[in-house]
Amino acid sequence: MFSDLAAPKADPILGLTKLFADDTSPDKVDLGIGVYKDEAGEVPVLATVKAAERWLAETQTSKRYLSSAGNDAFNSATRALLFGAGTDAFTRSRTVQAPGGTGALRLGMDFLRVARPGGRVFVPTPTWTNHGHLLAAAGCEIVHYPYYDVATGNLRFDEMMEALRGLTEKDVLLLHGCCHNPSGADPDAEGWKAIAETLERSGALPFVDLAYLGFAEGLEEDAHSVRLLAQRLPEVVIASSYSKNFALYRDRVGALTIVGTNAADSDRAHAHLMPLARALWSMPPDHGAAVVAHVLQDKALAADWRRELAEMRTRINTVRAALVKHLAGAPRDYAFLGHQRGMFALLGLSPDAVRTLREEHHVHMTGTSRANVAGLNMANVERVATAIASVSD
Ligand code: PMP
Repeated sequence: MFSDLAAPKADPILGLTKLFADDTSPDKVDLGIGVYKDEAGEVPVLATVKAAERWLAETQTSKRYLSSAGNDAFNSATRALLFGAGTDAFTRSRTVQAPGGTGALRLGMDFLRVARPGGRVFVPTPTWTNHGHLLAAAGCEIVHYPYYDVATGNLRFDEMMEALRGLTEKDVLLLHGCCHNPSGADPDAEGWKAIAETLERSGALPFVDLAYLGFAEGLEEDAHSVRLLAQRLPEVVIASSYSKNFALYRDRVGALTIVGTNAADSDRAHAHLMPLARALWSMPPDHGAAVVAHVLQDKALAADWRRELAEMRTRINTVRAALVKHLAGAPRDYAFLGHQRGMFALLGLSPDAVRTLREEHHVHMTGTSRANVAGLNMANVERVATAIASVSD
């Protein structure tokens, strides 16, 4: 009976939402769930998305099924964003639309059973918590590799390279393409080169989670990781999300891209993805992908979207710099936060300090002390920094 079921583990993010809702302070600040917020604390629909939705409402003549691969124009635009239209990697890759980055990750992990049977998946510590859930659901064996040192705020690069020596050609290496969640710390160009060399030597398959393309330095700059890997290696798997860079969170827009040695190999891999997608969701949801396809295909809208994305990126980087500036007198040196990118900052606070921040200062974040930088604005950043400094040691 359902009554015999054990109480499920509470979802920490959902718990946070309730704690925030119950906080009656007018000064409360939500640095919990990972959504981009503007200076006013809103999560608005982008103007380019609104324009594409109007266009879609006026021109769409049918909602009949497409295929398990989804919207062809969207898939092609995804490859163009990743690699540049007409490049070698563009030509030898194939994309399948998926429900969000999460769907793309799950589809990719199901594909690993076909592409790398018996292989292990090397996962960074720390990483996005859902990676573990998704890999478990797909039946993948996980090996953890050291990635980031919460105490120092630095990459554990040498330890990581040491651990990656254990990779074999049957294995898979999970990487964050940019804006690592939860740390915001990414390898530099030299670091990516070293990772590519390790993969070259071992024959392991890189599986890149790219949920924040355009949020670090720019669209081209942030694609450096996947472009380098595709250039240096025969095969790459990439899970893209449009939740953040198009602010389409609830519309569930993502894509799985397979780069093969040549187009024929990728077509073969693509054919394997179809029945896997059919068993997961049959067809991906159309609306958000149709919107993205239209924006990226329309020159004027695409330029406007790049501007909207740049605005989000610049705001995040501006409040991040302000946070670091206001933390300058703290007992701990927080300068490392200034070198990191994307929405998150892992502050390295104890669970007790996180509780004090919430209960006494009305600053809410996850129990791991991951703060969503986009929840800050120029009006609250100094107060939040003072609060963080007061609980730091
Ligand atoms: N990967 C990472 C690292 C993420 O942070 C997220 C979103 N929090 C996702 C994937 C998935 O995003 P979505 O399914 O909402 O597109």
